[in-house]
Amino acid sequence: MIVVLNKNVTEAQIKHILDKAEGLGLRANVSRGVEKTVIGLIGPEDVLRVTPLEVFPGVEQVIPVLAPYRLVSREYQKEDSVIKISKDVKIGGKKIHVMAGPCSIEGLKGLRAIAKKAKSAGATILRGGAFKPRTSPYDFQGMGEEGLKILQDVGQETGMATITEVMDPRQVELIAKYVDIMQIGARNMQNFNLLKEVGMTKIPIMLKRGISATIKEWLMSAEYILSNGNFDVMLCERGIRTFETATRNTLDINAIGVVKKLSHLPIIIDPSHGSGEWGLVGHGAKAGVAAGCDGLMIEVHDHPEEAFSDGQQSLVPKRFAALMKDLEKIARAVSRSM
Ligand code: PEP
Ligand code: MN
Repeated sequence: MIVVLNKNVTEAQIKHILDKAEGLGLRANVSRGVEKTVIGLIGPEDVLRVTPLEVFPGVEQVIPVLAPYRLVSREYQKEDSVIKISKDVKIGGKKIHVMAGPCSIEGLKGLRAIAKKAKSAGATILRGGAFKPRTSPYDFQGMGEEGLKILQDVGQETGMATITEVMDPRQVELIAKYVDIMQIGARNMQNFNLLKEVGMTKIPIMLKRGISATIKEWLMSAEYILSNGNFDVMLCERGIRTFETATRNTLDINAIGVVKKLSHLPIIIDPSHGSGEWGLVGHGAKAGVAAGCDGLMIEVHDHPEEAFSDGQQSLVPKRFAALMKDLEKIARAVSRSM
């Protein structure tokens, strides 16, 4: 941490800061320049969260050197994390896995039909919401446990791994019994009690980026899960809110490179929520694969016009299959497989 001092800082003020820092177990090094005097502090910077040096007289600015997240950082682990979901599904390796399925689980027959087609097109993970975070309390809220049973049954029938959203710490135990991956939705990215709760499980977690969250905030949320003991975390960029109104969200393709630079965790791209429009899903998916994502989440529905949620951004299975063929070519071009 670097503490930049005011131009007219007094010796007494410098001594006050040094005494405090050394009292907290930090090593201090004063560097007196012509224009500015700065103090370099070495040691566990966490102690400064309780005693912020910014408020000390004579201090102009405090510049942290280390990122506030640790376990998720590249410094902590140089190699990419590979998350084992099942015997055949490992996320973060050479193969790019695709999670496909309806926004909401609507019934056994419908899910089974979609799953079979998604699987034969190359998807390895079946998605479907049983507890839905809807903007309106009057909209369909999901099938609950009945939906989880359907998801589990169809996953087993088709040999696909499964993922569903958990919205509340009280649902974690129940949902963990039914699925292979738990999804934390964008609206709950900073539900810290939920993050702690899933951090205490051994189930892989996919953490979606909050609607208006910075990448730093997103990584701090992931840190909550890892610091509670669960290292099987993947991140999912699903579009953020910007000034642009032409699309539901703005898919932040930069997030792939930034996350790869800062963290060892795998990153998934969700071009369905990232655009909000089925005609745009392929563009985002292709960009994601080209830019180095480790997986995709795509909403697929046999009858989007009748879907209980997000029909407007769902691909019909035929279009999904055609997209998968294009994605395979892109994956190969960037030394990945699908
Ligand atoms: C979803 O995956 O259906 C969903 C609600 O996602 P998000 O949290 O990204 O809006
Ligand atoms: Mn959805």
